[in-house]
Amino acid sequence: EGFLPFEHEPYFPFGREDVARAQREAYRKVREEYVGRTFPMYLGGERVEGGETFEVRNPADTREVVWRFPKATPEQLEQAVASAKEAFETWRFSDPMQRATIFKRAGELLRARRMEFNAVMGLENGKNWAEADGEVAECVDHFEVFARETLKWAQGKPVYPMPDEHVTTVYEPVGVVAVISPWNFPAAIPLGMALGAIAAGNTVVWKPASETPLSSLLLVELMFEAGLPRNVIQFVTGTDEVLGDPLVDHKDVRMIAFTGSKEIGCRIMERAARVQPGQRWLKRVMAEMGGKDPTVVCADADLDAAATGIVQAAFGYAGQKCSACSRVIAEEGVYDALLDKVVTLARELKVGSPEENAPLGPVIHEGSARRIMGYIENGKQTARLVLGGERADVGEREGGYVQPTIFADVDPKDPLFQEEIFGPVLTFTRARDWRHAIDLANDSEYGLTAAFYSRDPGKINEARRLIQVGNLYINRKCTGALSGTHAFGGYNMSGTNAKVGGPDYLFWFVQTKTVAQKY
Ligand code: GLU
Repeated sequence: EGFLPFEHEPYFPFGREDVARAQREAYRKVREEYVGRTFPMYLGGERVEGGETFEVRNPADTREVVWRFPKATPEQLEQAVASAKEAFETWRFSDPMQRATIFKRAGELLRARRMEFNAVMGLENGKNWAEADGEVAECVDHFEVFARETLKWAQGKPVYPMPDEHVTTVYEPVGVVAVISPWNFPAAIPLGMALGAIAAGNTVVWKPASETPLSSLLLVELMFEAGLPRNVIQFVTGTDEVLGDPLVDHKDVRMIAFTGSKEIGCRIMERAARVQPGQRWLKRVMAEMGGKDPTVVCADADLDAAATGIVQAAFGYAGQKCSACSRVIAEEGVYDALLDKVVTLARELKVGSPEENAPLGPVIHEGSARRIMGYIENGKQTARLVLGGERADVGEREGGYVQPTIFADVDPKDPLFQEEIFGPVLTFTRARDWRHAIDLANDSEYGLTAAFYSRDPGKINEARRLIQVGNLYINRKCTGALSGTHAFGGYNMSGTNAKVGGPDYLFWFVQTKTVAQKY
């Protein structure tokens, strides 16, 4: 494709003292240089400052305001869409090689600043070092992958020939894409959607989650530094009242790329279906939503490997990934032994500050902690609590700290088994046999990820065929999809199955033109 062979960005070995020191030093610098500042938006290539602002707080101690961002006004939203529309008229004709080169260059710039990005993310959304590092490395991979995808899609596709016509099928961009993203992956998720849009020649109105705008802004500025024309991305921050429905409803928005909750995803689908006065197209909606991801453990599985994978996938980033393992379904014969192993490992997870790299950090905010505790309190009535079940004591700090919590003998009808909790809460359910386990895995409105542990090729084959998810992982954990390799996106209520980082992702951001020319 014109570039060197691809390799996933390796993670930092934080176990090494020199590497750990560098990460601590990056935190110190980020605190010195960024904490207390007010950051800008970008509209039509201009930095926009001033006006009302909102606070971003550190989830590790919510008394601390880390930085502030502008509250966009309705006029500024109008301006953002108008600027994106205007910029589209040039960017749509930009050279794919130019786009790819910008992405390559941005990847290089990010490689040199990974520790800084890790620290910013830790302060905004409470990821510990390794979790933040995984996400920032994913961003580097996204740049590399989208550079290559840009060139691939620029070639169009061959068609069946005709004797007297010259016929081509080419892909053209669609227009203004609104990128609306969540706080749990504040860099990799919006970046994936924005790169999809830009790679195909679209322009973007980027609305980050208001909990985590700096992780997004730094990426946008990095792309500008790498040579992206500054009017290609409009970066707007503020309230959902101003930037939510009005952006989705706007007649000049051609497509909405959304990742977040099921509730909002469904709302966007519905609103976008309504044709607004003056609107000249049917809007396209990409909505990637939640998960209730199962891990199935068969009687013949390697239980230690399963237990390790389960604990990492259930409690990494306090369970706040839509890919997180939230349901374990184990065959009768190994159920108790597996439960024992998982509880033993999970009990070791120290709850504390992400900045100090505690294995288990806070959930995003108090509201979220309360919601999670509501599920836990109900669970205490309906299932057997085997670990945790309380708020965690972290001394002075104020934050949504919840103990790693495990319920056993959970009934498939229980909300604990059916609803996305988005916290460090794991359920265990007994299956009569491995086929029953597969049925239970599929007993969900969601279908994002699943893990299946067995050594039996016959069972593995059945699992491959039957489990209804977008990302099925055999004998490994169900989190940590790598860009370019594990195309990510779910079935059913997990969303539109757009498969970010996959070979067909760019198809979402283009329209296809057939040109037939008579010889
Ligand atoms: N891509 C991430 C993973 O595979 C999850 C993204 C999400 O939670 O939205 O773990």
